[in-house]
Amino acid sequence: MKYYIETYGCQMNVSDSELITTILDKAGHSEAEDLDQAELIIFNTCSVRQHAEDRVLGRISCERARKTVNSRLKIAVVGCMAQRMGKSLIEKGIGVDLVVGVDQYLKLPDMIAELEDSAIVEQDSKQVYDDLVPKHHDPHCAFVTIMRGCDNFCSYCIVPHVRGRERSRDYREIEYEVEQAISSGKYDITLLGQNVNSYQYEGVSFPMLLDRLSGLNKQYRLRFITSHPKDLSDELIEVMARNPKISKHIHLPMQSGDSEILERMNRKYDYSHYKALVDKLRRAMPEIAITTDLIAGFPGETESQFENTLKAISEIRFDYAFCFKYSNREGTDAAEYDNQVSEDIRLHRLQRMIDLQRQITLEKFQDKIGTEIEVYVEALSRKSNEQVSGKTDDYKIAVLSGDVALIGSFVKAQVIAATAGTLICE
Ligand code: SF4
Repeated sequence: MKYYIETYGCQMNVSDSELITTILDKAGHSEAEDLDQAELIIFNTCSVRQHAEDRVLGRISCERARKTVNSRLKIAVVGCMAQRMGKSLIEKGIGVDLVVGVDQYLKLPDMIAELEDSAIVEQDSKQVYDDLVPKHHDPHCAFVTIMRGCDNFCSYCIVPHVRGRERSRDYREIEYEVEQAISSGKYDITLLGQNVNSYQYEGVSFPMLLDRLSGLNKQYRLRFITSHPKDLSDELIEVMARNPKISKHIHLPMQSGDSEILERMNRKYDYSHYKALVDKLRRAMPEIAITTDLIAGFPGETESQFENTLKAISEIRFDYAFCFKYSNREGTDAAEYDNQVSEDIRLHRLQRMIDLQRQITLEKFQDKIGTEIEVYVEALSRKSNEQVSGKTDDYKIAVLSGDVALIGSFVKAQVIAATAGTLICE
């Protein structure tokens, strides 16, 4: 059967789509080049925000029309939304035939063989899909999942409810996957987990894992997402600082700059702890880029608490921030809080947050003008065949003059201009 996967949400879903590709190819199915050729459309979905779910439901309804011209076409929903909504996705009558939860992807080939309306969404607290080396689609970068699930239960977050408890993959399987990726020319490796700092397998901690993975005799970069501030250890900072293969970039979600809000988010740190971590990281690695996630309009957030977040943004000066307005997710603790902030105020605060951070990001990028950077070239620039684009070690997009011959190599370049998202180099 020819299948086509449409992926939504975070990098974990990108990685899971590669896993699903591997499972289906092993069972004799093959990936369709486009939707028109597909006999099975798989939507790999995200539940983090209501907007993400609404978007997928809209896409499914839209693709359902194809069934009138291709009666064999089937639609499957996998990922967090499948886990959260289960069989009700089939019962909605929007054209969904199969629903497969995040721990049940190995059952997909059997379900395809039967092709009856069915949903399998049981959680399996041990499932880490070891023994499968996912087929990484990108020719130059690879996402490698090192753990699944989350134990933290931040009060706004649906992830622990749908992805189950935290479990780590065998470090030997991870090493094998990383070695395979590097030997096939992927020199930008991102290790994935909801909270990589709590990776633990038979006595191997996350800093130990990073050390083990950086010993190959080749030039490559190791990145990781996401780090929970409550678990960021001195040992990790020390390993990052002394190891040139580990990128000098950390994504450290702050969520709010107000300690009372952080407590109600169940983040288990306060602003002073977060700020102390940032100071420690910058003392150990002055060149490090720090990016973050921020939520505007968490239930009960007062104007002055929101302003504490703005103050924190100005004080820390993140290289980049992913800003979101609070999204109410049924089943989470925060959804039950009775002092929800109105949509208007959430949107207004979100915009103020974005405006402030955009200015800081621009200044951070402009600070690089006149410096020499190293770019891992990944593609031709979208704007010109005489330019290529890639990423710096500290996770900034860079564009420089050059042609296809540079793709896949590390190039030294001089920054001559910057926008709030791209370094222009020569
Ligand atoms: S650490 Fe918190 S925000 Fe991140 S996935 Fe776990 S519960 Fe969600």
